[in-house]
Amino acid sequence: MRTTIYQLLLWGIASIILCACAAPPAPQPTPTPVIAFGATPLTPAPLPQAGTQPAPGCPNPECVVITPKSAAEPLRFNIPTPGPEPKTIWRPPQFPVPLALGPYDHFYFARPIAADEVNWPVANYRYGGTFFQEVTHTGVDIPAKPGTLVLAAGPGTVIWADWGLFSGVPDNYKDPYGRAVAIRHDFGYNGEPLYTIYAHLREVYVANGQWVDTGTPLGEVGDTGITTGPHLHLEIRMGENTYFHTYNPELWVAPPQGWGVLAGRVMESNRELMRRTPVIIRSNETGRQWEVNTYGPEAVNPDPYYNENMVIGDLPAGSYTVSIVYDGKEQRLQVEIWPGRITYFTFRGSFGYSTDYPTPTPRPTRQPTPTPRR
Ligand SMILES: [Zn+2]
Repeated sequence: MRTTIYQLLLWGIASIILCACAAPPAPQPTPTPVIAFGATPLTPAPLPQAGTQPAPGCPNPECVVITPKSAAEPLRFNIPTPGPEPKTIWRPPQFPVPLALGPYDHFYFARPIAADEVNWPVANYRYGGTFFQEVTHTGVDIPAKPGTLVLAAGPGTVIWADWGLFSGVPDNYKDPYGRAVAIRHDFGYNGEPLYTIYAHLREVYVANGQWVDTGTPLGEVGDTGITTGPHLHLEIRMGENTYFHTYNPELWVAPPQGWGVLAGRVMESNRELMRRTPVIIRSNETGRQWEVNTYGPEAVNPDPYYNENMVIGDLPAGSYTVSIVYDGKEQRLQVEIWPGRITYFTFRGSFGYSTDYPTPTPRPTRQPTPTPRR
């Protein structure tokens, strides 16, 4: 029985990774602005300026349309504003980490891809996204080009290096995660250990037991394992280092400076979670629009505080309209996105929206908890 479930799971993972990599070719890397460490992130960034003409098929001037061979609808990638040409490969994260402007926020991790490469997730295949049947994505996919350096998202000890991470069998060359690295971090959250996982690498530079710091090169982006194209699959795990203990990386990896994150819990009137439901987010200033689906039913975990079932990271600060169609009627909510912060809402069927933040359950501490380095 266990074997059967495991095999099913393996196939599930296989499908999902396959699907992830069916994503279209990455857009040409566009440098993001270089932000110095120690910069103060608290001043609201200027809002995006409206008025310039978007490219055909795009809702805004920063949008690029890529037409995949196999899909009728073009996929849209939103490219951050170009910045100065970078002089070194390692860029600091857009916000210095750890960043926790709210008492329950925990942007503890830097981006695992440098800022002069594509370092943002595939927009339409986020954590909790589903492509096939009941299989749900347990990470985010960053479509950087093959050979791009993969960097440690935070300090810690390498606890898996190379083939076999998913199956737990060293040198398993059929492992769906391919060549992969797992790090147990030097800090935890609420007494629980934190792990990051980097999958489908072309090369692995580190060894089991090695201590790495934020930004240490772990290997190179590749397409090993079950995949049809190069990308980095990034997971955040908490509590235990297993497939079933992942959390949404967009709530853990610091957003670009001046940008924020929207999280929501989308429910039926009877409080049941609405699965795979599209949520539209539109900038009131620029008209730029995003669509994100609520989580699928399996293998994903909500944040202990937010209890969300949808997250969209990397939103420029500003005012937005959230839109959900329920019972055939579009219901809208006005929200504000703040730099480095998580804006939260709930939707409950015919009762509509609320912007009340969750009532915290009693917890001893929400601060990073140092764990002994081994
Ligand atoms: Zn993935």
